[in-house]
Amino acid sequence: MGWRDVIGAVLDATAAAPARQASRTTSANNKASAPASDTKASLARQRPAKPAPPEPERPTPERAWSAAVFDHIEWRRFEAVCEALFAQSGMRAESQSHGADGGVDIWLYSQHSDKPMIVQCKHWKKRVVGVKELREFYGVLKSHDLTYGTFATSSTFSSDALAFAKSNRINAQDREGLLRLIAGRSTEQQQALLDTAYECEYWKPTCVKCGVKMVLREKKDGSSSFWGCANYGKTRCNSMMKVA
Ligand SMILES: [Zn+2]
Repeated sequence: MGWRDVIGAVLDATAAAPARQASRTTSANNKASAPASDTKASLARQRPAKPAPPEPERPTPERAWSAAVFDHIEWRRFEAVCEALFAQSGMRAESQSHGADGGVDIWLYSQHSDKPMIVQCKHWKKRVVGVKELREFYGVLKSHDLTYGTFATSSTFSSDALAFAKSNRINAQDREGLLRLIAGRSTEQQQALLDTAYECEYWKPTCVKCGVKMVLREKKDGSSSFWGCANYGKTRCNSMMKVA
């Protein structure tokens, strides 16, 4: 499904969004006293409510593990699958469902080591994970004075990224690597991971800031739809993702 292609790009763009939002707000405030804007506002109030845009189709769950599962699910389900996968190897896994994570999606604790391992997950479909992302992750490892980390992606790594991971002892797991790890689990464990992937509304993105499912909204001009945070009305959370 196309909208997942852009999640990575949109997540990157989200960081820049508040600045743009702020400048728009300022210019709107400056014009607030102009009569034209009052007229516009009253027209908007009179306009009848538009019907909600059609929901993207729910992908039919796979019955066994394949790359298609990664395509069906949103970023938060991908992180949950990674967390469950590492927990199956006997480690205690802790993750943060949303909010500032400081570059760590999952913390792994082993009884054989007094230092935790960290995991970063990138649920990208086509965008290749480059050396930039690996360098940043290495920086996170060093900032926590840690030696071992895993970078997991539903996509692939560039050759530079793989070389960097190898020379810095980062465990790089791409789509194929994760599928190999999953294939090595017992039938019951594989089913448990599949159940984790397809939990609840697995195809709808989660707000990166609030951890709630996003809802489909229509742009003011009616030209297209986008995923917006369900908390927008309550907390003014302005997270959004494209629907392609
Ligand atoms: Zn939100």
